Amino acid sequence: MKLLSTNGFVVYAKKMNEADLLLSYITEDYGKITCFANNARKSKKRFLGKLEPAMLTNIKFYEKPGMTLDILYEVDLVEDYKNLRKDIDIYLFLTKLIEISRILCQERDNNKNIFYLIKNIFKSLDKLEIRSAGVNLSLSANAILLKYEIYFISNLLRFTGIYPNFSNCICCSGNNLHNDFDFSLKKGGVICKSCKEDRNNVPVYSEIKKLPVNFINLSNLMIESDLSIINKLNVREEILMDCSIFLRDFLSFHTGKRLKSFEIM
Ligand SMILES: [Zn+2]
Repeated sequence: MKLLSTNGFVVYAKKMNEADLLLSYITEDYGKITCFANNARKSKKRFLGKLEPAMLTNIKFYEKPGMTLDILYEVDLVEDYKNLRKDIDIYLFLTKLIEISRILCQERDNNKNIFYLIKNIFKSLDKLEIRSAGVNLSLSANAILLKYEIYFISNLLRFTGIYPNFSNCICCSGNNLHNDFDFSLKKGGVICKSCKEDRNNVPVYSEIKKLPVNFINLSNLMIESDLSIINKLNVREEILMDCSIFLRDFLSFHTGKRLKSFEIM
């Protein structure tokens, strides 16, 4: 067995019995890994208070050749973004981010971009809370978090290679010049009017979605920019909400899973 070390964020934790835990991490060097943490709930020195979400930790784990499950040996706190666990709206956003990361990222698919995407968002949101302390943020808080959500999902889709093709019809490759094509959830891309009406395609209308106004431009802008774009963009909350609903539908359809974190509103 090899002892390995890397930085990571917890994206899943499940009690195994009295004291043990099963934990998934998005790590800097090994992609998503899943570890068995023996006696984790009782071992104060090695684990206690260091397995919370929104904590950047350095983890040491044993890799067993031929096994998918690693053995967590020790955890050290690197950075604690504790403001993320204080504000209920931010915390709910955090649960979405964690659920989506866990579902979309494959075990050992090492893409450092995903780790840094999560880290940058945590850092930024942690400061956002401090800056707004004592200020009534409630009016715009939802819009700000929706922008983070669209930024996160758009970039994660790109890094995992499942960002849809919005430029050309998925059936005939016709150019979506005016960004007015609908979206086929089943085919995972935009579909032009004539292909949509083609009997051979037998469209199931619940699978064909209208794309929210400006969604394509917004999403493209977010994958081309760093996080500072969130403060620069002024988009109405209703439009952001429509974009969020579209992304949820796309993710649910693509993964075949209900996204529980989107149901808590
Ligand atoms: Zn077409």
